[in-house]
Amino acid sequence: PVPSDFYDYALALTDREREFLGELRSTLDREVAPIVDDHWDRAEFPAAVPGIIARAGVVGLGYPETRPFENSATFRGWTAFELARVDASTATYVGVQNGLVAGSIGVCGSEAQRAEWLPKLASGEVVGAFGLTEPLSGSDSAKGLRTTARRDGDEWVLNGSKRWIGNATFSDMTIIWAKDEVDGQVKGFIVPTSTPGYTATKIEHKMALRMVQNADITLEDVRVPASSKLEHANSFKDTSSVLRQTRAEVAWLAAGVAAGAYEAALRYTTERIQFGRPIAATQLVQHHLATCLGNITASIGMCVRVSEMLDAGEQRDEHSALAKAFVTSRMRETVALAREMCGGNGIVTDYGPGRFFADAEAIYSYEGTREMNHLIVGRAVTGHAAFV
Ligand code: FAD
Repeated sequence: PVPSDFYDYALALTDREREFLGELRSTLDREVAPIVDDHWDRAEFPAAVPGIIARAGVVGLGYPETRPFENSATFRGWTAFELARVDASTATYVGVQNGLVAGSIGVCGSEAQRAEWLPKLASGEVVGAFGLTEPLSGSDSAKGLRTTARRDGDEWVLNGSKRWIGNATFSDMTIIWAKDEVDGQVKGFIVPTSTPGYTATKIEHKMALRMVQNADITLEDVRVPASSKLEHANSFKDTSSVLRQTRAEVAWLAAGVAAGAYEAALRYTTERIQFGRPIAATQLVQHHLATCLGNITASIGMCVRVSEMLDAGEQRDEHSALAKAFVTSRMRETVALAREMCGGNGIVTDYGPGRFFADAEAIYSYEGTREMNHLIVGRAVTGHAAFV
């Protein structure tokens, strides 16, 4: 168990699941932790990460085609927690590759699409990206999407632009969500990035998640075969079923970020001496530590339940929206307190909380801002959609 799992929630996992998480933790400590600060500073994604992640086997754990053993959604949530506890950029890379990309194919793909892509995503042979957001459409992507898809014989022709697309500076394929010009419905397409007319440009000057890369994408008469359309992605409802699952995973990821920051602050405050004693021996620092631990413990409890609901077939959009909104809010308070407890050293990356503090801002906004997720919850509990 990790120090931030104060109520030992992980004890409810099977032995095999716990063993897997222990191995993942050692891999991350040994191979990822030593390289993240430097790459974060330089805003570069380490070329080694896709291989490390593929060997750790965390992509495709949810699908019969690629899982090494049967496992629970709670266990898969813990993998996001463990990744984020070490580095939010690495966890976000996996969130895209596994949740958004393998997730789109797992939820909306045909048997043939699953058989073709899921093993390649799991082994890292293919790196994927997920293109929904556009320069002029973020929160309103259900209605406001401008990228178009036109059927032309046995091909689809895609035109438009995308923004913020994670992993897209080096992805081999990108799932592009576009509106069918005929029926006006949002559909998903598997687009190899080598297709003529497809261009991705790195977004510079990020102050959060600097290590993971995001891109602007333009699509100019990009032609893909009809078989590239995700078979079961025929309206935004289908996109939402992918996002329902990934939002719950982002809640786990956010709990992991909070845990990483808290554990770094705990270490720092027990070592840092002021007024002749460790600052952890003061009442106010203990109050901050307990606030952080309360946030993390409540967050894990919520994450566990929302994952159990997925396994039981009971998880609805509003369940995962509430978890994403609540846990990322608690994360934001926790990383700020952790940074504060490290004083000046809290604003440099060397001590941990500084990087978690900056990265938390992006996680707070991606996969639906707090406002959007609250509106999903509000619609469910009142019966009134208040988006517009
Ligand atoms: P906007 O929609 O312009 O919103 C701006 C503000 O207005 C927000 O606070 C929002 O809550 C508020 N707002 C909007 N409408 C309302 C309303 N009706 N009521 C109240 N408040 C409202 N997208 C992808 O498709 N793929 C990715 O891989 C991806 N990765 C990302 C990685 C990072 C680091 C970031 C920052 C973003 C990523 N995104 C990705 C995009 C992300 O999902 C969007 O940024 C997010 O959905 C918000 O959209 P927006 O930035 O356009 O903000």
